Amino acid sequence: MKFLFFALILFIFSIGIAHALQFDIVPNVDAAKAKGTFLTETNSKKVCGDRLCSEVSDETISQKPVMITKKGLFPSSMDYTVNEPEIDSEKGYAVIEIGDGLYWITDGTYQMMFLTTGEGVIVVDAPMGLGSKIQQAISDVTLEKVTHLIYSHIHKDHVGSASLFSKDTTYISHIDTAKHLAMKNDPQRPIPSITFDNQYTLSVGDQVLELSYIGAFHSKGDIVISSPAHKVIMAVDLFHPNAAPFQYFGITRDMGEHIAAHDKILAMDWEIIISGHEPILGTPEHVKFNKEFTLAVLDNAIIAMQTTQPSANYFGDLANKCAELTIEQYPDLKDIEVSPVENCVTMVFYAMID
Ligand SMILES: [Zn+2]
Repeated sequence: MKFLFFALILFIFSIGIAHALQFDIVPNVDAAKAKGTFLTETNSKKVCGDRLCSEVSDETISQKPVMITKKGLFPSSMDYTVNEPEIDSEKGYAVIEIGDGLYWITDGTYQMMFLTTGEGVIVVDAPMGLGSKIQQAISDVTLEKVTHLIYSHIHKDHVGSASLFSKDTTYISHIDTAKHLAMKNDPQRPIPSITFDNQYTLSVGDQVLELSYIGAFHSKGDIVISSPAHKVIMAVDLFHPNAAPFQYFGITRDMGEHIAAHDKILAMDWEIIISGHEPILGTPEHVKFNKEFTLAVLDNAIIAMQTTQPSANYFGDLANKCAELTIEQYPDLKDIEVSPVENCVTMVFYAMID
């Protein structure tokens, strides 16, 4: 009797244990499910994401999304297309990340950009006036060393600090820039080892840049540098956002290519342009305005030719008349009074003999 009683107690006790275990298993699975752990195993019940693996087909598991780093422009960067960034008076420059790993440097007059890639820094241009501030600005934001430098074009004021980087830096440019720099043999502008004619894709780490030749709109070997992921492009010395052009339309060598470049750039897919000058970033609206302004100067050059009488200073008279008309049309444009006659000289010769 004692034995039977003991056996009964043992029986009830073991049912209790089994019951308790049963309830114990389920909360564990639920906890793992709640955490969303991928392929977590709780006792014999595997958890796949938010459910038991037995509830999920193999196909669904294999479609688990692969994490791809999506680079983009920061929406707040659009502020810099209107407002100037604050420039640290001691440092003399501002370095601003305008998109993931894409940095803009400006001293208020010149502009350049660089990208961190996870495998080294790609620098685009190295203005002479910025000098060692470029390395300082880069080291402000990353420990990566500079591995690549791209020349936007030949001019020393934009690339004259290119030699300040280490000897094993890879220099990249359009073939015409490389030929010009080889001819100049200028130690401040190392001769590029990678050159191209029309298109070149530079892929380093997690960044990709598309380099395109759209014609010599300014000097020799002018290129457009584009980061498709960020929708940011850089085209230097074509225009000044919200300002009149520098003398002789930025001393362009080819006014026809200069005018044509506006539509070629506007046909590309981008939101911000780094123009090389001014303390702000550019937008498609700035490029459209500059095209409108340039064509207005062309109209004014033609009107001057139609209305000016021959004289000893005929070309001077044409340029003066064209400048007068342009200032009348755009009285409030920044720097309109700086070199209207010089810009009109270029346009008059383009209209007359190009
Ligand atoms: Zn230039």
